Amino acid sequence: MNVSRDGKIVVVGAGFAGLAAAASLVQAGFQNVKILEAKEQAGGRVCTTKPFTENIIELGANWIHGQDGNPLYHLAKEQDLLVEGGAANKNMCLPHSVTPRDYFFMEDGRQISTDIVDQVCSLFSKLTSKAFESELEEEHRAISLGDYLDVSFAGSTLATSEEGSKVFEWCKRSECTDEAASSLYEVSASQLGYYIALEGGFFNSLGPRGYQAILDILLKSLPSDTILSNKEVKSIQWDFQGNKGKEQNHPVQVICKNDQIFEADHVIVTVSLGVLKQQARTMFEPALPKSKLDAIERLGFGTVDKIFLRFNERFWPEDCAGIQLVWDEGPEDKAVYTSQDKDDAWKETWFKKICGFDTVARHPTVLCGWITGREALHMETLQDSEVADICARLLRSFTGWAIPDISQVLISRWGHDPHVLGSYTFVPHWVNGVKEHEALAAPLPSCSQAPESKPLQVLFAGEATHVNFYTTTHGAYLSGAREAQRLINHYSH
Ligand SMILES: Cc1cc2nc3c(=O)[nH]c(=O)nc-3n(C[C@H](O)[C@H](O)[C@H](O)COP(=O)(O)OP(=O)(O)OC[C@H]3O[C@@H](n4cnc5c(N)ncnc54)[C@H](O)[C@@H]3O)c2cc1C
Repeated sequence: MNVSRDGKIVVVGAGFAGLAAAASLVQAGFQNVKILEAKEQAGGRVCTTKPFTENIIELGANWIHGQDGNPLYHLAKEQDLLVEGGAANKNMCLPHSVTPRDYFFMEDGRQISTDIVDQVCSLFSKLTSKAFESELEEEHRAISLGDYLDVSFAGSTLATSEEGSKVFEWCKRSECTDEAASSLYEVSASQLGYYIALEGGFFNSLGPRGYQAILDILLKSLPSDTILSNKEVKSIQWDFQGNKGKEQNHPVQVICKNDQIFEADHVIVTVSLGVLKQQARTMFEPALPKSKLDAIERLGFGTVDKIFLRFNERFWPEDCAGIQLVWDEGPEDKAVYTSQDKDDAWKETWFKKICGFDTVARHPTVLCGWITGREALHMETLQDSEVADICARLLRSFTGWAIPDISQVLISRWGHDPHVLGSYTFVPHWVNGVKEHEALAAPLPSCSQAPESKPLQVLFAGEATHVNFYTTTHGAYLSGAREAQRLINHYSH
């Protein structure tokens, strides 16, 4: 058995996938592992900041989704990094006797009764569960998630109530956040069945050091010179012949934007699907095979943004978990979606895509607005002050409450972050998700390529490459560990 672990390995990207890959390889005894990271900081779409007070704000990932079989949940639990009680509690400062609830308001300022909201949300949740549990009827398997939900909701008595259908539109708008999609009419209903929601609370909250505390565990497990920051990779040349005849014959050359070259036996690419969509055709030489380029094109990579508003004082009731906005005609009404598909009119009403404003743990005077899709991308182009003014106007007109001045604003701009270009992956209508995730994850050269090529030159990890846990931090982590294991197995033969 060859147990030499002297392979030279370059990992591109220091998000959860890249860090997990490097940590697994180092732990297995590999000594030649480097991570090239385009940004100054490691973490990628995990971005724990302290913009307002000494308390953290998560601009990217916030929750650990699920417990059983979730390596990040176990890591966090082992290290005592979870909030007591496990499940999300947006209002951690509340006395235990107060149960937080969302306040739903209509455009005319009327508040919708909790009874209607609960009934619609519970039906919505039953319908989406059917899709996630692959229990869709045959006629629903070929339609979009939005169409399936509409057809199913139409059969309910709730659809006949004016408030019921408006809350249903809100539910679809809110689900766009989980799906990172511009609209549920663009998401496949049947493919949701391949996404696996792990058992245990879906929204496990982290303690006062947030996601950064988990990143720190991985960072500490790496030798201090493993990560090279500000090293944006511009080109990966594989099956490289230029070294032939040299004593050290490494088949891969990784070339950075500053022209620095790193030779490697293996490179693990963990850049986001957004970056691959923009750069896959120019980054690799020889070009990626068609199956991989097709996967990059077919899988969706949507944008989800957060708008943090800090007020001079709290103006919402103590038991309020969030202020939710219910429109007379919202962007997830099929008629509105279809009519706005053709022109740019939706840009005028981009703010209608904001679901609402949630209270934020450890920040008693901060609200967090959520927005997705093309509207989020458009919002990213506006000034912070313009976005804040519009949000204050919405809050005032929907609630009728006296809204104090906004003292600070913080907006994520994931869609325009050149090293991410979106938020997370979704499977569009008509796409075979499993096939495309697998094609994306397949290493190069493929088995059918020239037999004289060295094996496992370019490997792919990152949340988009995980068939069941795409979109999540644990999916990213497990994909990195998967590719490390592929190399460990290779060197163990
Ligand atoms: C707003 C938002 C909320 C989220 N909420 C949650 C949540 O609550 N729970 C959850 O589980 N998940 C959540 N996610 C998703 C989760 O953050 C991601 O799935 C996960 O962090 C992705 O990790 P990754 O390693 O695959 O990719 P990334 O984190 O994107 O890492 C890729 C790295 O590659 C670097 N890079 C890119 N191009 C180059 C280049 N050319 N050269 C060198 N380096 C490069 C990037 O800078 C980055 O550091 C959220 C994401 C967002 C944006």
